[in-house]
Amino acid sequence: MERNVELEPCRNKGRIVVLVPLPLQGHMTPMLQLGTILYSKGFTIVVAHSEFRPPNPLNHPEFIFQPLSDNLSGYDAFFMNLLNLISDINAKCRAPLEKYIVQLMQDQKLQHGNEVACIIYDGLLHFVDSVATCVKIPSIVLRPSPAICMHSYHHILQLHAQNLIPFPESRLEEPVPELHPLRFKDLPYPITCEIPERLLDFLASSIDIRSSLAIIWNMADILEHPALSALQQHYKVPFFPIGPFHKMAAATSTSFLEEDRSCIAWLDKQASNSVLYISLGSIACVDEKEMSETAWGLANSGIPFLWVVRSDSVNEKQHWHFPEGFKALVGERGLIVKWAPQKEVLAHRAVGGFWSHCGWNSTFESICEGVPMICRPHFGDQLINARYLTYVWKVGLNIENVLDRESMETTIRRLMLGIEGKEMRKRMLDIKEKLEAGMLKGGSAYESLNDLTEFITSFLAR
Ligand code: UDP
Repeated sequence: MERNVELEPCRNKGRIVVLVPLPLQGHMTPMLQLGTILYSKGFTIVVAHSEFRPPNPLNHPEFIFQPLSDNLSGYDAFFMNLLNLISDINAKCRAPLEKYIVQLMQDQKLQHGNEVACIIYDGLLHFVDSVATCVKIPSIVLRPSPAICMHSYHHILQLHAQNLIPFPESRLEEPVPELHPLRFKDLPYPITCEIPERLLDFLASSIDIRSSLAIIWNMADILEHPALSALQQHYKVPFFPIGPFHKMAAATSTSFLEEDRSCIAWLDKQASNSVLYISLGSIACVDEKEMSETAWGLANSGIPFLWVVRSDSVNEKQHWHFPEGFKALVGERGLIVKWAPQKEVLAHRAVGGFWSHCGWNSTFESICEGVPMICRPHFGDQLINARYLTYVWKVGLNIENVLDRESMETTIRRLMLGIEGKEMRKRMLDIKEKLEAGMLKGGSAYESLNDLTEFITSFLAR
């Protein structure tokens, strides 16, 4: 189903779209995929990126890459430091981006036919909109997470404005009015204690699209129609839900870390639907106790598994060791890698389940391959995605806070061997088919992408 996008290279040739990504894996990936999609529509793609954690240009020889000097080398982008990182990038990349765009526009005057059509930026990088306004180029926001997540930011700010935070612990199970199916405990940031001023500013800034003329979503209308429609009432600009990006774009690696491809040969040797794949994405980490319980849950389940353990997967422990006896007990039945080619892994016939932190990219990738999930959300939109997976789409089991080895073993066996798991797989396949239909001519993602292409092209006619 990949490469559904029709090629129209000539029509938009010379029309430049500048992309400005946030250098976090879950944000960089969809931005580069969007670049690939728009390139296939004939646009020239420039990626203006922070020097900190640059994308690998070798994976995208068709793009022009422009580093923005940021003085952030050596920055430690661990979870607790993310707000600082985002704020520093907003502060430090503004001047170099403006200088670059001005230069680009001057160069265009010399090369007849090249024009900057618009700047598309990650919704957390508000500095880009201010540059776009200064240089009088239209800007568009990319939201890499579901619409209900943005909606929930509005709600948290509303609760704060009504002095309802700290919110009572005893009411966390109650449904959030207007945000069905979320409960207060599913909101992306904790509300039972005071929210720091910096976080409030961050939430307010990330729901403000400023002068941007549209929002692009890595989302499919069939998955989130009510949330997209509700949000559309608030933002009076066009929405383009053209996901799943990774299926609309040709497959190319977008990883910061090197993918260990040895796992594909290992998967080739396993029976169909027999392997549980475990990954917590690029940022989430667990404490030593949870890591050890997970190891024993996997070992005792008897299920073959492929487990991604990053060097920073364990809180504050760069050198965590597997429990004694674990590797001997597991033998060839389990494979551990530092980083996997995840999309390929999920598409492999041997993979029958995905234990995930429920980041949106991972969630969407799993849905697109019909792989049911075990949900272990950590923070942010992961809590929302887990709620949808378990309660709305009914394609995932939630392990919530029951993190001992026995419950983990039972949950793994329920998913991989039980009737529940089979039913979830059927439901996943059903959603997968609907998503595939959306990418075909006449489908919602397909049509929305055509509308987006027209929209961007229309800027140049003005
Ligand atoms: N990923 C990968 N290999 C791994 C683990 C993750 O390629 O071993 C990719 C995964 O396919 C997804 C991205 O990293 O595209 C993680 O994004 P997500 O939104 O799921 O989570 P985040 O890392 O932002 O928390």
